[in-house]
Amino acid sequence: MKKKIFSAIIFSSICTLLAAFIPLFVAIQFEFKLISDTALIILALILSVAAGIFCGVFFSKKIMLPIDRLDLDNPDLKKSYGEIDNLIHKISRQNELIDRQMSDLRRRQVEFNAITSNMSEGIVILDNKSEILSYNSAAKTLLGAPNVKDGEHFISLNRSHAFVSAVTNAFEGNHGEGRLETGQKVYQIYANPVKIENEISGVVIIILDITEKEKREEMRREFTSNVSHELKTPLTTILGISELFVNGIVDTKDIKRFAKNIYDESERLLELINDIIKLSRLDEAVFPELPDKVDISEIAKEVKNRLALPAAEKDVEIIVDANKAVITGSKPILTEMIYNLTDNAIKYNKEGGSVKICVTDEGNKFVLSVSDTGIGIPPEHIDRIFERFYRVDKSHSKAVGGTGLGLSIVKHAAEFHSASLSVKSTENIGTEITVCFDKN
Ligand code: ADP
Repeated sequence: MKKKIFSAIIFSSICTLLAAFIPLFVAIQFEFKLISDTALIILALILSVAAGIFCGVFFSKKIMLPIDRLDLDNPDLKKSYGEIDNLIHKISRQNELIDRQMSDLRRRQVEFNAITSNMSEGIVILDNKSEILSYNSAAKTLLGAPNVKDGEHFISLNRSHAFVSAVTNAFEGNHGEGRLETGQKVYQIYANPVKIENEISGVVIIILDITEKEKREEMRREFTSNVSHELKTPLTTILGISELFVNGIVDTKDIKRFAKNIYDESERLLELINDIIKLSRLDEAVFPELPDKVDISEIAKEVKNRLALPAAEKDVEIIVDANKAVITGSKPILTEMIYNLTDNAIKYNKEGGSVKICVTDEGNKFVLSVSDTGIGIPPEHIDRIFERFYRVDKSHSKAVGGTGLGLSIVKHAAEFHSASLSVKSTENIGTEITVCFDKN
């Protein structure tokens, strides 16, 4: 390369000199008669500049040709490039480094996308111009912006006050929060500023679907208020009667009646507390024993025996038509379930009626059904009878007893065994509650 440049300089100088001598040579030939001296000098100058430019362009192209032909992305390191060999090796090392870093970045991007796309929480990253840098698919779904694209202003994600003010707060350097309600869903928005050297360089937004949490919170509040009410009623009766005894104003003939009242209310209280304990254990999934092989038909027979007395008192016949049906489950929970269903079928039956407990093998399922010939459930109440403390007819329920928690326990017990529940009922004809267990 050095040689090439040196010979280019020598050759260009000779060309320039020769070009300058051409007009002089011509002038000598014509004995300086053809043009004046000044014109001769100007002509010599023009020709030497032209020769210089020509040589410059020609030689620079020649020198640059191998560099132009060089593939800088993949230089052939076996070839010698003369003086630029070092530069080529450096470029090659830089290329390798950039390639490594790029593939590392790509791998991280793929990992990040894989993680965020499977998240149920929405994530959005904004730059310092309030434009969208990145987001996951959950963010688009939760914020109701299926067509949003990178580079758009964050407002195109959602225009609600809650969202905009949370993000604006974050751009002001604070933690932003908002609660977004859209139809049936409730979302919680968190927006946090991203600071680099105390400068806000963007904002990260997290969107959480809190619908279920809100529902559970609402149910918990309702449950607490119902429990307080249900506990207060028998306690008030017991307290009132006890007060009469303490003040000595109970007639001897009324003692038995009042004592019976205290007994009944205490029994109701105990029943209620027991049901609450059972429900909370089902809620928390706390059980003394591990699931075992249990025969549902055996439990049906046991329940029939346990309820023989109340059934006889109401002149209700209990019929068990059960084939062997062994599932993996919890015996105490299954017993509680069949007991509650049969107890209801007796309580809400008519005098002289009947209750039938059937357990059948339906191929890939075992089906348990408890049917009665009782008062039935009006259609508008059927969807609600599994709710805690829900009773169709409060006054009638008080007369027959019960806590309003029996079917909630049945529902939880079915869920615990991954079984499905269904109800068929006709007023004044009867009710049938069916539980389908997968064979396992
Ligand atoms: P309860 O302790 O009041 O029986 P449950 O949760 O067991 O509470 O039942 C909820 C309500 O569903 C009952 O109050 C009753 O109105 C209705 N119900 C349950 N089972 C039957 C049935 N077999 N026949 C008619 N109504 C029923």
